[in-house]
Amino acid sequence: MQPKPNIVHLPVYQPGKPIEEVKREFGLTEVIKLASNENPFGSSPKALEAIRGELGNISLYPDGGAVSLTNALAEFLGVKPNQIIFGAGSDEVILMMARAYLVKGDETVMASHTFPQYKHNAEIEGAVCIEVPLTADGKHDLPAMLERIGEKTKIVWICNPNNPTGTMLTHDEIESFLRQVPPHVLVALDEAYCEYNMTDVYPDGLKLLQTYKNLVLLRTFSKIYGLASLRIGYGIGHPDVIHTINQVREPFNTSRFGQAAALAAIGDRAFIDECRRRNAEGIAQLTAAFDRLGLSYFETHANFIMVDVQRPAKEVFEALLRRGIIVRGGHALGFPTKIRVTVGSAEQNDKFLKALEEVLAEVAVQA
Ligand SMILES: *Cc1c(COP(=O)(O)O)cnc(C)c1O
Repeated sequence: MQPKPNIVHLPVYQPGKPIEEVKREFGLTEVIKLASNENPFGSSPKALEAIRGELGNISLYPDGGAVSLTNALAEFLGVKPNQIIFGAGSDEVILMMARAYLVKGDETVMASHTFPQYKHNAEIEGAVCIEVPLTADGKHDLPAMLERIGEKTKIVWICNPNNPTGTMLTHDEIESFLRQVPPHVLVALDEAYCEYNMTDVYPDGLKLLQTYKNLVLLRTFSKIYGLASLRIGYGIGHPDVIHTINQVREPFNTSRFGQAAALAAIGDRAFIDECRRRNAEGIAQLTAAFDRLGLSYFETHANFIMVDVQRPAKEVFEALLRRGIIVRGGHALGFPTKIRVTVGSAEQNDKFLKALEEVLAEVAVQA
């Protein structure tokens, strides 16, 4: 048997350690996972109720076109239903875009330290990934990315806020970038964390869509909506582009539970507002402590923070793990002295900070 030559080097995705395994391994009764940017406040009770309503239908295929959900979301966003495509998480929309637009030898441009699925899926298609270093403050270097766009470029990926740095590009920066991108290049603007934004300079992606036919916005119900396990996310774009992506979509790619829960969750704005407010409080709580401890961090606009612990990330990660706190060590993300921590509830943040202080005393500073 001979696998595609362009996939033989790909690692199998290594998920963060499950809570149960960490409890067993270290003999702990309480473990807090701040590693996957999940919503510490759960999900809307309306979503749970909607799932219960679907229990009697699980022997039936879902609506492949997710029509009710598409119509509701289109109305909420002020776009046409044919501008939306759903995926099993926005991960799958990324996969479908790569599948629909990239062939061997194409080029695709992305930041050097960003969401790994762009590169992963592009490589499966045999495309050449051009990775442009982030700026010193952890942001996409848009002028440098523009310079790397050429005739062979098919897709440029912009993650805003960027995972894992949490940094944001403004509306003006994105618009000026889009003005200069040649129209044959698709721009994927990943807005997985857009609902957390508290500023008035965050891009109005929906407005930009009216001018730029080559723009696709990626969003998800996994983060602020708290529906990560149900695997539902979406892309918004020009009807022609959405049609193209739909051509490679599997017939029943989203589940009944995902569709029903997402539909109900859109209607619970109070839950979203509450999560946004508590996340901002959590950021203030964490950054105040980092300031006190003399630790620098990237300015975040998401539900996670990347902080420089000034020590080998792997050691800090492991020492936190022993204390029942799971974070993402920067050693796995290209940041050898940083960790990425999801903003938890106030109580979880307190426990993380207490453990971090102990760990900083225990692990030697990196010279
Ligand atoms: C979490 C995340 C996603 C995808 O999440 P899904 O669960 O697949 O919807 C996409 N992009 C970024 C930047 C993310 O952090």
